[in-house]
Amino acid sequence: MPDQNVIVLTAPSGAGKTTIAHRVLAAMPEMQFSVSATPRDARPDETDGEDYHFLSTEDFERRIEHGDLLEYEEVYPGQFYGTLRSEIEAKAEEGPVLLDIDVDGALNVKQRFGDDALVIFIAPPSKDELRNRLKGRGTEDEQTLADRLNRAERELEKVDAFDAVVVNDDLDAAVEETLTQIRQFTAP
Ligand code: 5GP
Repeated sequence: MPDQNVIVLTAPSGAGKTTIAHRVLAAMPEMQFSVSATPRDARPDETDGEDYHFLSTEDFERRIEHGDLLEYEEVYPGQFYGTLRSEIEAKAEEGPVLLDIDVDGALNVKQRFGDDALVIFIAPPSKDELRNRLKGRGTEDEQTLADRLNRAERELEKVDAFDAVVVNDDLDAAVEETLTQIRQFTAP
């Protein structure tokens, strides 16, 4: 796999990482997106092979046993997600590859790739702001909200393990900073 072709965006839930990932992909047409695998059900607006490779639980487990996953995590209780080796190997032939994965998965990728991966941690401006954003989504009940905030606190403690931190206070500025980091890393 060509060096310096793996870029990871990671963040606590609610920090805006997926929005930033979409904006990065739009701004850099050469950037490939690593489509993760998951045994969870597709949501109505999701397409198999584009948003995720939706696998059966048996297939997902078989792939773990075969060592087909570069990393995988139980991101939410009972919900697994993983990066297929074949996915990033194939996409890295085309250009730099962007992964949008959780914090523990990103730590794993950093450990494996070292300086050949750029891992950017997207941080919320503050814990209060994170709480407001998670509440604003309206998708979490009180217990889930509390769980996600606790988890976010633990994740924020791991920030030093990553290559760069972008605080998502102003979205446009955060996208620009992320693009600057990526361009510096991928420049020949
Ligand atoms: P969902 O798409 O179900 O709302 O949330 C997915 C969560 O799992 C996000 O935090 C996303 O970053 C994370 N995720 C997606 N794909 C992967 C993956 O391949 N590996 C890991 N470790 N996390 C992933």
